[in-house]
Amino acid sequence: MTDGKPLISPELLEIMQCPACAGPLSERPDPPALVCGACGRAYPVEDGIPIMLIDDAEAPDG
Ligand SMILES: [Zn+2]
Repeated sequence: MTDGKPLISPELLEIMQCPACAGPLSERPDPPALVCGACGRAYPVEDGIPIMLIDDAEAPDG
């Protein structure tokens, strides 16, 4: 079901940043989330809408 289709528009992804550390975000297809390249938090994407809340983010392992 992950056909290379972007979760959110690339333009939007480009201007968004991690609310915790302002790091760059990248898409993770399964389960859908935006992952911070700096701190490793993963923000879930529900119905194409990223939930950019630190409290709802998956903390990185370790
Ligand atoms: Zn971050």
